[in-house]
Amino acid sequence: MPKLTSKQAFSVIYYLQEALGVIPDVYEKCDECDSLFDTDNSGHYNETKGKFYCSSCTHLHDFEETDEGDKVG
Ligand SMILES: [Zn+2]
Repeated sequence: MPKLTSKQAFSVIYYLQEALGVIPDVYEKCDECDSLFDTDNSGHYNETKGKFYCSSCTHLHDFEETDEGDKVG
């Protein structure tokens, strides 16, 4: 396995999921820390922001209330 950055790895995973459908469409990249996670088992999708957060970062965000001050463009 070549050494990939998480961004590169996600590109590969995304391709396998979306284009080829060879693996379940469950892997997403955390928009906070860029790590990959399995949405079946962990993480959270913020519909308001349209972003994914892994289980490590979910607690950083209050998904129940209105967001304020999104630092990411
Ligand atoms: Zn994260």
